Amino acid sequence: MKKKWLIWDFDGTLAYRVGEWPAWTQALLEVLDREIPGHGVDPDLFRPYLRTGFPWHSPEAHHPHLSSADAWWGALEPRFADAFRAAGAEEAGASKMAKAVRRAYLDPGRWRLYEDAVPALEGLSSSGWKHALLTNHVPELPEIAGRLGLDLHVDRIFNSARTGYEKPHPEAFRGVLDALGRPEKVWMIGDNADADVGGAKAAGIPAVLVRKRRYGVEPYSEGLDGIAAIVGG
Ligand SMILES: [Mg+2]
Repeated sequence: MKKKWLIWDFDGTLAYRVGEWPAWTQALLEVLDREIPGHGVDPDLFRPYLRTGFPWHSPEAHHPHLSSADAWWGALEPRFADAFRAAGAEEAGASKMAKAVRRAYLDPGRWRLYEDAVPALEGLSSSGWKHALLTNHVPELPEIAGRLGLDLHVDRIFNSARTGYEKPHPEAFRGVLDALGRPEKVWMIGDNADADVGGAKAAGIPAVLVRKRRYGVEPYSEGLDGIAAIVGG
């Protein structure tokens, strides 16, 4: 019998990066706080620099040239440096801080699982579901997930930094289905109505939107405790 699989988004669905600000703004702020204590910069200043230029902002583009972690982060450094210059850093300082974003973002102490993540994964496993991750994320995502203990529950990880395809690109989903042997039952679960739900549905995979409701996108579950009732046995 073919196995049944749930394909999970990671960030904003199973886990999140702690902080008062959105994850990337927060990571840049942590670097700035360390390098220029008492800087007085409004972190909103970073946001325009972080709204474009990441691989997932161009999901139509295949990016195999970013498949090494150094290449992936290196492509973002000029953008981070621009942001730090805008925050008042001089040239050398901005470059140094841009390089420091990688380590700051990956700081294991900053990543948490949502409280309902493990109970939901375990409950669904006991009903025979297997779990995979499909994420648009940094190259080190498997290590982040592993430190959070997700490797105890998740059998496969498909990460855009490695595959070169960002959700909602159809190849991101097709690659997962192929690797899982075209399972008879499969659902995508994620917090992004476009990348997760729209992308999955376009690839023929039913999908559940979680945590961030969008009018007209169904089925929806606020918490992960509602997934079992939607995907059934
Ligand atoms: Mg997400």
